[in-house]
Amino acid sequence: MSKDVLRNELFEAFANASDNIFIYVCDMKSDLSRWSQNTVDYFALEGEYMTGAGHKWMEKIHPDDRGAYLEDIDAVFSGRSSRHSCQYRAKNKFDDYVWLECKGSVIPDENGQPGVFAGLMTRLDNQNKYDPLTHLLTGYEMQNYDFTGRQGAAIIFGINGLRKMNTTSGYTYGNKVLKVFGECLQKLTGETDRIYRLQGDEFIVNSPGGTKKELVQLFRSVQSCCTRMDVAVDGVKSFSVSAGIVGYPQDGDTYHMLLSNLEHCLEYSKEQKTDQVVAFSEKIAARHKRVGMIHDALMRSIQNDFAGFELYFQPILDSRTREIVKCEALLRWKTPEIQDSAPYEFIKILEDSGGIREVGFWVMEDAVRHAAKWQRKYGNICVSFNVSYLQLLDETFIETLIAKTQEYGVDPGLIMVELTESCNAEDTSMLSRCFDRLRGMGFRIAMDDFGTEYASLGLLHDVSMDVLKIDQKFVRGLTEKENRADLAIIQSVVDMCRRLSIQTVAEGIETEEIQNLIREIGVSYLQGYLYSEPVPEAEFEKLLAKKGI
Ligand code: C2E
Ligand code: MG
Ligand code: MG
Repeated sequence: MSKDVLRNELFEAFANASDNIFIYVCDMKSDLSRWSQNTVDYFALEGEYMTGAGHKWMEKIHPDDRGAYLEDIDAVFSGRSSRHSCQYRAKNKFDDYVWLECKGSVIPDENGQPGVFAGLMTRLDNQNKYDPLTHLLTGYEMQNYDFTGRQGAAIIFGINGLRKMNTTSGYTYGNKVLKVFGECLQKLTGETDRIYRLQGDEFIVNSPGGTKKELVQLFRSVQSCCTRMDVAVDGVKSFSVSAGIVGYPQDGDTYHMLLSNLEHCLEYSKEQKTDQVVAFSEKIAARHKRVGMIHDALMRSIQNDFAGFELYFQPILDSRTREIVKCEALLRWKTPEIQDSAPYEFIKILEDSGGIREVGFWVMEDAVRHAAKWQRKYGNICVSFNVSYLQLLDETFIETLIAKTQEYGVDPGLIMVELTESCNAEDTSMLSRCFDRLRGMGFRIAMDDFGTEYASLGLLHDVSMDVLKIDQKFVRGLTEKENRADLAIIQSVVDMCRRLSIQTVAEGIETEEIQNLIREIGVSYLQGYLYSEPVPEAEFEKLLAKKGI
């Protein structure tokens, strides 16, 4: 068998499947074998093609595990068994032993004789002491740490926006960021501190005998290291981190308690977006408890045919005539036990848990149903509903919207999709394709929250849309003197939209004064408490019957 036979598409496909899977294939007659490139790199093998690899590989195996390996592999090569399956430790290029599960099988040739031996090795990361990328201890090792009778503190770090870095700059870049960050931690921590890399972008420094105060200091040094990038190596640009600190001993099982409290602090720190470290407190514990309670109640509502969910409607007026021409459907949710959860709270929980998918489809159908009803009753009222980027990623979103619109017999021009938090749009070309398709079918598209950190001019350039919604935070302060710059910005955005044939909505109009200013600027539509808060269906119909406000 020549190298050509070992060169096949399936091998290439598997070889690139994952960085913790290593594959090999061996021609049993000539003993020529091929190893995937990541195996060659990670285990410092002599090359992709080797003869007599069995022996060379055995030298990598931990002496204590060689017996088991030999026995198993011998059974395969002597023909006693057609399958190889065992777990052992092998030495990587860092001179560390990593646990592998090695499985292989013999494929006979056309004469029924042993032909090819092919297999794959999976790194059993949860049994490994060191993380292969950063060379720090793994989270599994932290579980092995004996906390009994010890006093100290731990800090958790999360790299902000790593997912986005991976998608925009590539995984290789993301890996460099993780490595550089690991090096930064090693440089700044003390000798007795233990540094662990957990899954993804999270790291923990356990400081036995350390105090929370010292860890706040560590946080500051790490933060300035990452933002000022005096760790700049490998072309890594500056990035920010979120962090949480917890002291121990804690009640009960320290490891699990510590880890879960650290995670709560980190979550809170990420939400605050203030670049400050969060120390564990009763407030955080209570908040976490509430999130858990709301989460469970939301899941029960979903299972119970969306009991407790309701759409409210807020009128949107034509700026010239002040007639109601559109409305925004806004989700509300209440159960006997939870009466006071605002959309910002429960929608975030739905998004984090994935429940937004089902609820999003429910919102879509209910909005379409109302649009159909009002089309028959009042003529042309356009109903918009909110979707997050996550929801648009769902391939069935567009098809379902088309199907529902047909089922209820509504003109697609009376349905508007509002994209919220477009900052999360990692793939703008996907978004652009999705919007083009919807617009091609006659649906309308709005970009929500313009003027906040979420929505940017860049997106305006990349995707085509019908309507731009200027965020209420921008609008509400317009009449204050210090916000004159905001006024100039809104003015130029509105002018630009007019040139691009994009209509504009100003949200959050609460006073006549702001309304007048907005109308002067030439914004196309008005929305805000001055006209009406979001109201239930029946009340909204009363407004429609009146025609104006
Ligand atoms: P949004 O889409 O920007 O909705 C406008 C928010 O501003 C609504 O808050 C509305 O009640 C409020 N608002 C309107 N006029 C005024 C005003 O004059 N003054 C003040 N202070 N507020 C005003 P709401 O209903 O609490 O919704 C909050 C956010 O939750 C929405 O912001 C939207 O991002 C999200 N959301 C609501 N429903 C859904 C939904 O069905 N799906 C998704 N994915 N997100 C939703
Ligand atoms: Mg909206
Ligand atoms: Mg908005």
